[in-house]
Order: sequence, then structure tokens, then C-alpha cells
Amino acid sequence: MEALQREVEQLQKENNLEKTVEDVQKTIDLLLHARQAIAADASAAPVTMAKLQNSVQQSFDRVNRDLKPVHQGLNNYQKAVTNMFKDKPLPTAENDALSSHPSLVNRAIAMHLLREGQFSVAATFIEEANAHPPQPEPTPGTPNPYLQEAWEKDLANGTFNSQKLQQQFAEMYHILHELKQQKNLAPAIAWAKERSIVLENRGSNLEFELCRLQFVCLFKGGDIQGPPADPVLGVLRAMQYARSDFGPFQHRYGKEVSELAAAMPFAHNMAESPYRRIFYNDSAWEEVATSFTREFCSLLGLSADSPLYIAATAGAIALPTLLKLQKIMKDKRTEWTTQNELPVEIPLPPAYHFHSIFVCPVSKEQATDQNPPMMMPCGHVIAKESLDKISKGARFKCPYCPAESHPREAKKVFL
Ligand SMILES: [Zn+2]
Repeated sequence: MEALQREVEQLQKENNLEKTVEDVQKTIDLLLHARQAIAADASAAPVTMAKLQNSVQQSFDRVNRDLKPVHQGLNNYQKAVTNMFKDKPLPTAENDALSSHPSLVNRAIAMHLLREGQFSVAATFIEEANAHPPQPEPTPGTPNPYLQEAWEKDLANGTFNSQKLQQQFAEMYHILHELKQQKNLAPAIAWAKERSIVLENRGSNLEFELCRLQFVCLFKGGDIQGPPADPVLGVLRAMQYARSDFGPFQHRYGKEVSELAAAMPFAHNMAESPYRRIFYNDSAWEEVATSFTREFCSLLGLSADSPLYIAATAGAIALPTLLKLQKIMKDKRTEWTTQNELPVEIPLPPAYHFHSIFVCPVSKEQATDQNPPMMMPCGHVIAKESLDKISKGARFKCPYCPAESHPREAKKVFL
């Protein structure tokens, strides 16, 4: 792997197109200059053209020379890749569950591009994917793949509306740009205010976080990183903003609003005050931007990170283990028989853990706050309603082992 990394670094640092682009630009400048000279004085055209011939030829030679190390670098990289994956099996219909779902792969790619804001690439991709419908290959799991898959149906029914998604993501990128680059909170606050109730129902703090940052900005004036330009004016501006906009927050964020008000007497030495962390928080902008992206995607029914990115990264983490497993199975002549389930545990980082839910093995219902998972002394867990039903308030036998216990001995499980 190190050899591959070295080649990538070499490509990025040395064998890149920087010099070529520079020399091409020089050629363009040369030509533009000549055009201007001829436009200014037509009689000078033959001389200018004659002079140009040599210089242009030299420029081309230079560009070709620039490109040589780039080609060499790419060649070395290709060799390193081939070397690295020499003995590794390529996915085939037998070991690749996705061969029968090329449309899903296309959809994931299209979604990824849209989410990354690569709108024109996404548009071309969708157009070309539709012009050349994929040919699904049968796999053991899907022996008879059908052509008309979800994506085609979605496209036909307008449920995968790339135009609409593009518009929505364009809005997201606009707001993010204003937030991160311009340090302008107004569009994000307007967006959050419009969806105030939905966000509150989701338990989101986004709207308040944005408004609190706005309060800090108003207090500090021009330089949002440093101390306030004019503390007295800053307090006036911030308090005026709080009076006009913090009304709806009084109930849910009473403590936080009081904190902001209590910080104002420290206007002249905020950096030494107990409220320092609110007014000098370097990561505040990054935090609200992340929080905004997460809420924006959630309201569209999407996760904050691109599923394709997550799947590819998780796959890359799992791949070495799976390759090792494949080799062991081959040596021992055994087969992996469980469909749709990995035969080994693949530990993934916590950010890759989704669906921390509990489904009661008795009632098959998903646990809720009202019906939480309960662990009996034997260690088995069932939902509270099932526990009540089975035990009827008296000693009872666990449905999964011979152990007996009283319902009051069961402990609530927090996920
Ligand atoms: Zn048990």
C-alpha cells in the first residue's frame, strides 16, 4: 500500500499539470498579444505572423516537455495499482451482489453527484445512464434480474426528480456558501425560521444556534474573531436583536438566553469572563454549518453524508477482512452460505453505526420512549409492553431461557 501512496503523492506534488497549464496560458497570451498587434496595425500582420511561428512552435515543444513527467508518473501509478491488486479477485456475478442492480448503483452515483453540488456532471451522468440502460447480470441472490428497476420507474414517475433535487441542493449550497465564506447568517436563519415547527418537533436546536451566533456577531461588530470593536455599541445591537428575535426561544432556551443577557455586563472583558466559550468559539461556524447540512438533508429524507461515500468507505474498511475470509474458505473448501449477511463481524467506526433501534423479539415491535427495551436479570431483553403482558406483574419465566424473575427486577435499557 505504501508504494501506491508514494505514487499518489508523487502525482500530486511533482507530476501534475501545473507547469503545463502555465505554459499553455503563456501560449494563449502570446496569441492574444499578436491579435491585438494586428488589430492595432493591419500592415504589421505579415511580420507579426512570421515572428509568431517560431514562438508558437517553441511553446508547443515546451508543453510536450512538461507533459512527459506527467505521463511517466501516470505510468508508474498504473504499474503500482496493477502490482497492488495482482492477486485480488475482481468482482463477478458470483461474489458481487450489486451486479444484478446496476440501476441502483447508477442512482447512488447520481445522488452523490447532486449532493456534492456537481450539478452539470450529475445531469450528464443521468442523461447518459438513461441513454444506455444497464444490463443487469443474474447473481445467486437475484437469478432473474429485471431491467425496469426502481430508478427507471422513479424517473418515469417523476419520483426521482433530479431537477428538483438539484434546485434543493443548489439552495443548500447557496446557504452554506453564505454561512462559511461570507459569514452571513441571514439566509440560514430565514430557512430555519420557515421550518421552525418541523425543526422543533425533530428536537433540533439549529434555529437557536444560528440566532445565538447572530447575537454574538452583532455584539462583536466587524471582526467576528477578535474582541468587539465597540463594546457599548455591540451590547446595544445584540440586545436589540434579542428583544426583537428571541421571543420564541424564551420557553425552550430560557437558560441559554439568560446566559447571553448575563454576559453583557462583561462586554469590556468578555475574553476573561465565564461566557468566553460562547463568544470566542472558533468552531462555531463549522458547527452551525454541519448542523444545518444535517437538518437540511433530514428534511429531504436523506442522511447528512452521502450514502455512496459511506458505503464505499465502509466497504474499503471491510474489504481486507473479506478477502482474507475468501482465501480461508477457498483453502478449506467451505462456502459462504448466508445470503445478505456477512459471516464475520466487521468493526466500523461509531459514525458508521446507524439504526440504534431495538425490536422486541416477542412482539416484533420497535421500542419507543413509552415502550422501552427492558433487560431481565438473565440478560435477555424484551420491550416493556411484552414484559407486562408475559409477567402480569408477578414472577415469570424468561421467554428465551429458563431463568425466572420479577418484572421489577428488569432494568430499562438506553440505546
Ligand atoms: Zn432469559
